[in-house]
Amino acid sequence: MTIKDIISSAANVLMPRTCSVCDKPLDGDEKFLCRKCLMELPRTHYEDIDFNPFEQLMAGKVAVERCVSYFFYHKGEPYASILHDLKYRNMPTLGRWIAERAARQMQGSHFFDSIDAIVPVPLHYTKLASRGYNQSQFIAQGIAKATGLPVIKALKALHQHSTQTHKDAAERLKSTQGMYGASKRHKQELSGKHVLIVDDVVTTGSTLLACATALKDTIPGVKISLFTLAAAQLD
Ligand SMILES: [Zn+2]
Repeated sequence: MTIKDIISSAANVLMPRTCSVCDKPLDGDEKFLCRKCLMELPRTHYEDIDFNPFEQLMAGKVAVERCVSYFFYHKGEPYASILHDLKYRNMPTLGRWIAERAARQMQGSHFFDSIDAIVPVPLHYTKLASRGYNQSQFIAQGIAKATGLPVIKALKALHQHSTQTHKDAAERLKSTQGMYGASKRHKQELSGKHVLIVDDVVTTGSTLLACATALKDTIPGVKISLFTLAAAQLD
């Protein structure tokens, strides 16, 4: 037993680690999710599907190269707790861990080929101050770890996000227009490059659409692909 093992088992006694999905205690080798929940993760396999439902959702709204999500979730179902823990329970490293795993599993599909940089969807600074971290930034770091691609904070949130829960798709789309801007600092660096915009979840696609539009409006010749950890069942 190393000192690290001793410290981690002592920490486990004080605050037992449990599976984010089923809440069972984790054994020493398990991280965030137990083996069973990880094995049964409802993968979308969008990276292997031509014109997948995520790509269909964005079609006609903004030109994107490829879109992918790692797993499906439904509000209130066990796997939704991954997103809840990531956003509201101060577990940003869960996002980094699962995104790295997702990226490694997708590498065989060549999804990341030709992508030059990863750009996280930003949080407005007031939200950043209250949450303490931007979950999309951690997801971006996980993908970077698996792929070696750089993370570039090329987007900024210009306005505070109003709550989206009770809005329909058209209202959401309207409320996110002009919400994001691209930082001019990265204009030259990203000119003509293929950028992967990263977020935790895709539902109506309005946030990602606003981000993609902001980049395209500012950076000449930029190409866009989209990655989210989770997808609300889109088909
Ligand atoms: Zn579990």
